[in-house]
Amino acid sequence: MLSLQFWAPHVAALLILFDYDANLARHQPLFYRQRHPAELNCKHGVLITDQLFDAYLKCKTKAHLTFGPDRSGESSHPICAWQQRLAEHYQANGCHRLRSADSADCFVGDPSLEDLKSAKYRLIIQPYITAQDVGSNIHALEREAAPTQKRNSPYTPIRFVPVEKVSKHHRLMLAFDAVVLWKASGQMPTKGTIIHGFRHTALVLKLDAWIHEVESLIGKLRTLLTDGSPPDPVLIQHCKECPFEADCRKKVTEKDDLSLLDGLGTTDRAKLNAKGIFTVTQLAYTFRPRRRPKHQASRREKYHLALKALAIRDRKIHVVGMPEL
Ligand code: SF4
Repeated sequence: MLSLQFWAPHVAALLILFDYDANLARHQPLFYRQRHPAELNCKHGVLITDQLFDAYLKCKTKAHLTFGPDRSGESSHPICAWQQRLAEHYQANGCHRLRSADSADCFVGDPSLEDLKSAKYRLIIQPYITAQDVGSNIHALEREAAPTQKRNSPYTPIRFVPVEKVSKHHRLMLAFDAVVLWKASGQMPTKGTIIHGFRHTALVLKLDAWIHEVESLIGKLRTLLTDGSPPDPVLIQHCKECPFEADCRKKVTEKDDLSLLDGLGTTDRAKLNAKGIFTVTQLAYTFRPRRRPKHQASRREKYHLALKALAIRDRKIHVVGMPEL
């Protein structure tokens, strides 16, 4: 009863927020929606967009398929579409808050290069910025309060993240925005802000180290995309919300790949590969039932991945030990 009293106001507030966000987004111009270039090639080679970079951070195969000719599956996954809607609502709400705090000197859209360099506007909402071979739908740019050095950008990129916990992925996406801004204006942003969670908490990050990491990742992504064939799919947690899941699962099942086993991490898979085990069937043959020593009877039975592989191979349910009925 006590826990109900505690959670009820929180749940109600959350529902009000979602409803408010949904209404807000419904009345926002389409501007808040991401604008992706129709063509992923530019005269400098492959145009690396924030969408492509985001896909690469999640899965190399996904990046390749997103870039490839068969892009029909995009955003058709219900979880993926729902997450995108949630992120758009949150972003629209965040931009609305930034503007309502002080609407003076606010610009919505793509600023000219001169305006970007001279820091004409205090706030720029949702600019789509491209530079040579990179482009990003930046959520917002805010002018620094204090004057910066000439080689540094007067703007701080801002990203809106609806979740409470900011991950490395979110930090890298913010740094990607900074790289695009740097390449477009020739001035490097030194810090960026992630606004996240229910309370719209602002997390300010120093970007130097992150920018270097992003540059190296962009190089790797470019090599991957120009290589030709996509890497073999390996099922991961993200697959459950990926538009390419059906195709990848089919390929992995045909290959009888080890990634069919939930709970088998990258390190464990590499260890098994080093022993010459690449398929579920091969792993299933390594299972040997052993009698447990008496002194270990009270200990919890360890998880046998090989037994799981055996269950998949034989399509049977196996129980370890004596079941308590
Ligand atoms: S389904 Fe999984 S393996 Fe395939 S592209 Fe998506 S995330 Fe990558």
